[in-house]
Amino acid sequence: MSTSHLRHLPSVEKVLTALGELDSLPRPTVVALVRDHVEHMREELLAGSAPLTFDEAVTSIRSAILAFARQRIQPVINGTGVMIHTNLGRSPIHKDVMGVVSAVATGYCNLELDLNTGERGSRGTFLEKNLATLCEAEAATVVNNCAAALVLILRELANGDRNEVIIGRNQLVEIGGGFRIPEILETSGARLREVGATNKVSVNDYRKAINARTGMILRVHRSNFYMEGFVDEPTTAELVALAREFDLPVVEDLGSGAMVATDGLAPLDHEPTTAEVLADEVDLVCVSGDKLFGGPQAGIIAGKREFIARLKQNPFFRALRCDKMVLTALQESACAYLKASQSGAMPDLPLIAMLNAEVEALNTRAAAIVEAIGKGETVTRGEGTARCGGGTMPKSRIPSVTIDIAPVVGQCSLPQLMKRLRDGTPPVIGYVSENALKLDLRTIPAEQDSVLIAAIRDALQHSSESE
Ligand SMILES: *Cc1c(COP(=O)(O)O)cnc(C)c1O
Repeated sequence: MSTSHLRHLPSVEKVLTALGELDSLPRPTVVALVRDHVEHMREELLAGSAPLTFDEAVTSIRSAILAFARQRIQPVINGTGVMIHTNLGRSPIHKDVMGVVSAVATGYCNLELDLNTGERGSRGTFLEKNLATLCEAEAATVVNNCAAALVLILRELANGDRNEVIIGRNQLVEIGGGFRIPEILETSGARLREVGATNKVSVNDYRKAINARTGMILRVHRSNFYMEGFVDEPTTAELVALAREFDLPVVEDLGSGAMVATDGLAPLDHEPTTAEVLADEVDLVCVSGDKLFGGPQAGIIAGKREFIARLKQNPFFRALRCDKMVLTALQESACAYLKASQSGAMPDLPLIAMLNAEVEALNTRAAAIVEAIGKGETVTRGEGTARCGGGTMPKSRIPSVTIDIAPVVGQCSLPQLMKRLRDGTPPVIGYVSENALKLDLRTIPAEQDSVLIAAIRDALQHSSESE
């Protein structure tokens, strides 16, 4: 290829001058991005692409940089109706909880100092007792997430010449984001011993698989799907009884982390709680902190004191430990649950409030929003169904209320409207159903209503301007 093409390559300095200030980004990042783009242009030219004019090059680089800037983590309005949306950061954390986190993290704290003695303390003492109380467990501890909890448990309980883990074929699940139970088992050095059929697994299947190399029995909550029809599996209690005969530990990866009876909230299925699983004498249970628990990303492990102590002594535990912010957020959330339970109430956490919101109240908000926007047939009140999401209670559908936006045909397509809402500040995320873009109010806190109104007005304004 001719290198004479390269005379069309814009200089980094000139592009930077032409771009001017992009105040959302630090200058050194802009410089690095421009260099990357100019380098990419050089490769394209060398590969024989037609050269761009300088203005075209600047326009293309500017839009690439602005697209990059949109990837900054920032608040968004979740109109999807999916309450624990992994792409949208899972559970929102209570403002009061974050207030404590902020106070602890922006100064010094007693993370590993025992204020009673002035000596070095342990970072988990207060939180672990509260979590154990909440989970109705002998003991509890915390690591970075539930996946890490499972790896730690496997490394401790299934290793060496007893590294086989027995698991039913009906529980070899993929949780999402590439988290597959069989792969997790393998990376932790355990050997998978699958038993039964996809739809039916019996106690006897487990019994036949037990041998001198068996380290533990694992149950994994199916989380994000359900099985119906010709299906059967042993109860937790039956598996525990079998395990006791052979002196094997039973571990349950419960995932979702319900701490209260979910069927007492909204029309939800019953999601097993850690307390229920532990009442069946399971040795250890692990759950996520940022699903139904409504806290920060964490893996909560609860169960028998002896096993928790072993996990904490495992050298790998140190690599998985949480920082002061996560520990503080968990501590405050756990206390919120415990305080509520002493008066028989539901804890004051955003996720619980969303689950509890009355359709009537959502309708009132919707009517006010629709009226404020005043766009006649374009913006109306609709019906929707919210879901828990985050791999929890896949069957449960919660009646909800939506703001439906049906742009005038020919003026703006639904994908264009979605993009305009995403492009706003804050970005608004909805979903499309039946020729309308829907924004579910159950996942939008009422205090965001005025911001939402402005965002919808803006997006519609743009759509009529640009056509
Ligand atoms: C979500 C889930 C996990 C993974 O939890 P993270 O906290 O995201 O690591 C593991 N197991 C089950 C059953 C789950 O539902």
